[in-house]
Amino acid sequence: MSHANRQGTDCVFCDIVRGEAAAYVVNENEYAMAILDIQPLAVGHCLVIPKRHVPWWHELSPAEVESVFRLAHAVAGRLMQLLKPDFVALYARGRRIPHTHLFVVPTFGGDPLDRFFNALEGFQESAPALAALRDPKDLAALAARLRQG
Ligand SMILES: [Zn+2]
Repeated sequence: MSHANRQGTDCVFCDIVRGEAAAYVVNENEYAMAILDIQPLAVGHCLVIPKRHVPWWHELSPAEVESVFRLAHAVAGRLMQLLKPDFVALYARGRRIPHTHLFVVPTFGGDPLDRFFNALEGFQESAPALAALRDPKDLAALAARLRQG
């Protein structure tokens, strides 16, 4: 059962950070915590979360960014050492639980995550709706605009 956090919303990750919900804690540092995902895509699938309720990773403070990614890097190193996957995939979503969480997933060729990303990349390369996004002039113009930031 969850309850309102300091921001007035229900958030299971805030409950875990406060020690009010159970979790398989793997590691933590000043602003971040690493836990096992309880619905893993692979053995060793971890989530790295900031200790503060921040919905999207790009809204983290510079200190939180450093802490969260440093912890993800440490966890990935430990996963490589212990489980010896091909590599450790890293991605961020947050659509289902709007508290930043990095997915840190040991990956082997042909496992479910590898097949999913291969299918996604196949779709990315072949979908007619995405072909319009590949125009070299548009890509060059957008890259130039992003560099100006
Ligand atoms: Zn939260």
